[in-house]
Amino acid sequence: MWSSRGAAQPVERRGKGLLLRAPRGHPGPAAETGHLGDNGAMTIPADTTLLATETLLVGRVFTVRRELVRLADGREARLEIVRHPGAAAIVPVAPAADGSLDVLLLRQYRHAVGAWIREIPAGTRSVGEDPRECAARELEEETGFGAGRLESLGAIWPAPGYTDESIALFLAQDLTPGCQNLDADEALGVERVPFAQAVAQALTGEIADAKSVVALLRAAARLGIKP
Ligand SMILES: [Mg+2]
Repeated sequence: MWSSRGAAQPVERRGKGLLLRAPRGHPGPAAETGHLGDNGAMTIPADTTLLATETLLVGRVFTVRRELVRLADGREARLEIVRHPGAAAIVPVAPAADGSLDVLLLRQYRHAVGAWIREIPAGTRSVGEDPRECAARELEEETGFGAGRLESLGAIWPAPGYTDESIALFLAQDLTPGCQNLDADEALGVERVPFAQAVAQALTGEIADAKSVVALLRAAARLGIKP
């Protein structure tokens, strides 16, 4: 059933545009500058007006809504949107014996695509959880290592056509042994591979997970390593 515009939890009218606001408990926009911050929130300058929303599914991780919007030229459109609390993903690097760097990657089975894929550690933010805290928690849960140093690599929107999910990316260094604790729905193995090899695979497409490709390339730039 359609509800009035004001009932849409993550969306707030702000001036001529729409301020996309994270669900309750999520850290708010760092700055209304029109760009994607570490927490993934941003302001859309103008152009669409949310008229009504209809909740199609309230899932374990996200909510699916049908949103009726008026476009700048007056047309109306019905959009099916996944409203997501956001996530964090981490590039964990450690010194290799030869003086270069290794990276910890996951070999993880992804049911949606029916394949084992190589990706960096990542996880969904809990309600109210800071992206950095989420990154530290997911790193230890998935790899069994804690991070002495966690540096922001900015955020990404993995699929802005249909979801407001943002993923905050981090570079983790000074790794220390911790305690691996996998979720019940996780099937994965941890691999230590040369960092340069992982970056090369991100460029060739051998690593195809979007957040992993972006994070590996940003990490390489941050570390001054040429692919
Ligand atoms: Mg995960």
